[in-house]
Amino acid sequence: MHYISTRNLRFVLNEVLDLTKIRSFAEHEAFDEEATEMTLDAAKELADKYLFPYYREMDKNKAYYQDGEVHVLPEVGESMRVMGAAGWLNAAWPYENNGQQMPTVILNAAGLIFQAANGNMAAYSFLTTGAANLILNFGTEELKAAYLDKLAAGEWQGTMALTEPQAGSSLSDITTYYEDLGDGSYAIKGQKIYISGGDHNATENVVHLLLARKKDGPKGMKGVSLFVVPKHLPTAGGLQDNHVTTAGIYGKMGQKGYVAAHLMFGEQGETRGYLVGEEFRGLNNMFQMMNEARIGTGVMAAASASAAYYASLQYAKERPQGRHPGNKDVNAPQVLIIEHADVRRMLLFQKAVVEGSVSLLLQCSLYEDLSKVSKDPAEQERAHLLTELLTPIAKSFPSEYGTEAVSQGMQVLGGAGYTDDFPLEQIYRDIRVNAIYEGTTTIHGLDLLGRKMLMHNGKAVQLLLEEVQLTLEPALANDSTRTMAEALGKGLGSVQQVMGHLIGLAQTEDPKVFLADATIFLDYFSLHVIGWLWLREALAAVQALPTADGQDETNFYQSKLQTARYYFNYLFTRTAGHKRTLLGTERVTLETGGELLV
Ligand SMILES: Cc1cc2nc3c(=O)[nH]c(=O)nc-3n(C[C@H](O)[C@H](O)[C@H](O)COP(=O)(O)OP(=O)(O)OC[C@H]3O[C@@H](n4cnc5c(N)ncnc54)[C@H](O)[C@@H]3O)c2cc1C
Repeated sequence: MHYISTRNLRFVLNEVLDLTKIRSFAEHEAFDEEATEMTLDAAKELADKYLFPYYREMDKNKAYYQDGEVHVLPEVGESMRVMGAAGWLNAAWPYENNGQQMPTVILNAAGLIFQAANGNMAAYSFLTTGAANLILNFGTEELKAAYLDKLAAGEWQGTMALTEPQAGSSLSDITTYYEDLGDGSYAIKGQKIYISGGDHNATENVVHLLLARKKDGPKGMKGVSLFVVPKHLPTAGGLQDNHVTTAGIYGKMGQKGYVAAHLMFGEQGETRGYLVGEEFRGLNNMFQMMNEARIGTGVMAAASASAAYYASLQYAKERPQGRHPGNKDVNAPQVLIIEHADVRRMLLFQKAVVEGSVSLLLQCSLYEDLSKVSKDPAEQERAHLLTELLTPIAKSFPSEYGTEAVSQGMQVLGGAGYTDDFPLEQIYRDIRVNAIYEGTTTIHGLDLLGRKMLMHNGKAVQLLLEEVQLTLEPALANDSTRTMAEALGKGLGSVQQVMGHLIGLAQTEDPKVFLADATIFLDYFSLHVIGWLWLREALAAVQALPTADGQDETNFYQSKLQTARYYFNYLFTRTAGHKRTLLGTERVTLETGGELLV
C-alpha cells in the first residue's frame, strides 16, 4: 500500500520548513515534532484501513441516481463518520469548538496521505470541513449550534454551491435569488450545477453553503450573499424536507464515486436558507472556502500523482523488457525497464512534480498558519501576501503537471498502463478535473497576473524574492547546488524583464493585450517558484547527507539531489520557451478571429 512517502512529508516538515515559529504560539504549541509524528502515523493508519481499499471499487461501483435518490458506496458514510470521530474534520478548530488547533501545515500533510489513499472518498470529508468552517467563522450562534456538531462528526455532508448553468468562471452572473421571509430565514430559488457531494444516501442530511442574489437587488457581486441551505431543515421535531430537489447527477470521466449533482432550490415547494455573515458579503466570505478548496485541490492533485508515481515505480522495478543499447546478444537476459534511461526520465518527472508540489503546498499552508497566529502585524501581512500570491500556483501547478505526471506514469507501464489491471488509467481519469474545478487554470492565470503580481505595488512578489534570496545565497556557495542556483538566479532576472514588458502593455494597451497570455505567465512563474523549492530541498539534502543514518537515508537524500538536478535540466528549461512567447510581439491569439478557426 505504497501510495505516498511519509518519509518525504517528514523531510519537508522537519528538515525543510521551519515550524518553530508557529509552534511558539500558544495556539499550536501542542503540535511539537513528536505530536506531528503521531498525527501522520494516525492518518496513515486510517487511510490504509478506511480509504485505500475502496479506491478501485468506487470507480467500478460508481455513484448513481435512481428514483429520486443518489446512491454511493456505503463505505463513503463510514469513512466520514470514522474521520469525524477521530477528530479530522474539525482538527483545525479552536479548543472551545471541540477542535485540536492543528496547524494547517500538519493538517494538509495528513490530507496528502488521505487523498493519495483515495481522494474520491476523502473529498466528501474535506468538503464538509470547508462548509463547516464558513459557519464557524461567519455564522450566528444559532447556526453554529444547529449545524457544526453534525458536520464535524461526518454525519451530515457539507457542500459549496456556486456554479450555475450561465455562471461558472464568471460568478458575478449568478441568478439564484433570495427573498427575506421576515422570520430570520430567506426563500431561495434557482439551480446549481456540478455540486460535489450535492446529494447522496450515505449521510442523513446535506448542507449547502450557497451563493444567491437578492431579488431585484444590486447587479454583479454587490448583490450576492451567502446562505446555509440544508436539504432537510433541523427542527425540534426532527429533520424536515426543505424542498431541495436533485435533477440528476453527472456522468463523469473520472472520480465516478464522488458525486456531482444538479440541484434545484424552491422549485417543488419553499426552500429556506439562512444568512451566513453580513448581507452582500457573500463572495468575500465564500472566498475563505474557495481559497481553502484551492489549496485542497492542489493537495488532491499532488496526492493522485503520488499514488501514480509509486504504482509505476513498482512496475518499473519488476517488469523485464529489452536490453541495453549496444547489447546485441539475444541470449542475454532482458533487463528490468527501470534500467532504461528513458523510463527513469519518466519516473523522475513524476517525482519532481509530486515532491515539488508537496513542498509548495506545505509552504503555502505554513504561510497561511503564520498569517493567522502571528501577533506581529508586519509578519502577519507578509505571510498573508505570500499565501495570496502562491495560492493560484498551489492550485494549478499540481493539477496541470500532476496530470502530465500521471500520463508519464501510465507510459511507464506501456500497454498495461492503459488497462484496468492497474490503477494508472483510473488515476489518469480522476486527476484531470483538478485543472477545471475551483477555477480553471486560466482563471488562476488571470488572478496571478492581473491581481496578485501587482497588488500593493508588487509587494507580494518582492517578499517572495526575499524568501528566495535566503535559499539562493547558501546554494550559490555550495558546490553541489551552485549550477542550479545560478540557473534560478538568471531565471529570476528574466522574470523581472518579462514583468517589465507586461506592465508596459498594461499601461499602454487594452487589458485584453496584457492578459492574453496570463496562463502562459502562470506556468512560467510557477516553474520558477517550484525551482526555488527544489533548490531548497537540494540544499537541505546536501546538509543532511554527511550524517545520514544508513544506506536508505543516504539514498533518500541523494535521490533529492538527483531529482533537483533533473528538475533544472528537464522542467525548468521550459521557462526559456515561455519567455520567448511572453516577450513576443506577434499577437497570434488576439488576431485569430473566430472566423479563422475553421
Ligand atoms: C466534477 C465537477 C465538480 C464540481 N464541483 C463543484 C462544486 O462542488 N461547487 C461548485 O460551485 N462548482 C463545482 N464545479 C464547477 C466548476 O467549478 C466549474 O465547472 C468551473 O469553474 C468552470 O466553469 P464552467 O464549467 O462554467 O466553464 P466556463 O466558465 O464556461 O469556461 C469554459 C472555458 O472558457 C474559459 N474562460 C472562461 N472565462 C474566461 C475568461 N474570462 N477569460 C479567459 N478564458 C475564460 C475557461 O478557462 C474554460 O477553458 C464542478 C465541476 C466539475 C466538472
